[in-house]
Amino acid sequence: MQHKIHRLLMQHKLENPIDFSRFSVLSNGKEHKDLVNSLAIFLNNLGFNLDSDELQNTKNKAIELILNTTFKGLNYNNFPEVSLGKNNNYNSPIICSGITFNSTCEHHLVPFSGNAIFAYIPNKHIIGLGQISKIINFFARRPQIQERLNKQIFIVMQYLLKTKDVAIAINASHECITRLGELPGKSNITTFELGGKFNEENNLSNTFYTLINNFNQAKS
Ligand SMILES: [Zn+2]
Repeated sequence: MQHKIHRLLMQHKLENPIDFSRFSVLSNGKEHKDLVNSLAIFLNNLGFNLDSDELQNTKNKAIELILNTTFKGLNYNNFPEVSLGKNNNYNSPIICSGITFNSTCEHHLVPFSGNAIFAYIPNKHIIGLGQISKIINFFARRPQIQERLNKQIFIVMQYLLKTKDVAIAINASHECITRLGELPGKSNITTFELGGKFNEENNLSNTFYTLINNFNQAKS
């Protein structure tokens, strides 16, 4: 399953520009040591005294967090187990909202975070909200740009649910923007992808746009 997802994103030219074979060898051994040492060099160059009581564990803790949490979505072994339910003739949209995620801007390596709205019209299968959240958070746990994150989830959900009738919107606040002071205060970026009937049928598109609007108002 995991490798199929990776291949699917490669085919769509939507995979992250990262060597995925690296990530699986970084958790121990020489590669892990090299990684910790390279962070130590970086921190030393910034002037950190890594022998002090306060900072002596920083390099190890930071690398552990990067590998196991912040960028765990770069290791396809961490892709969630997906089990789908059987659809018993339900053919109206199912809309899931308020799905929170944390990601990292790949340009500045600082967090961006927000909420997603996910909608689909079931074909033969239905998927639980918990699983949708795990899949969204798998792709969020990478160095990302919001547009690609949105597209990755869209393509993978269409594939898993075997239907084009999928829509996803993401609303996120980017710390790089607020820290650089370009847009001080609370500012959000919204991206969305509409597939199948969500794209072709005006009433469904409009329903989804209304959800995006409500969602922006709720955030402000
Ligand atoms: Zn940024």
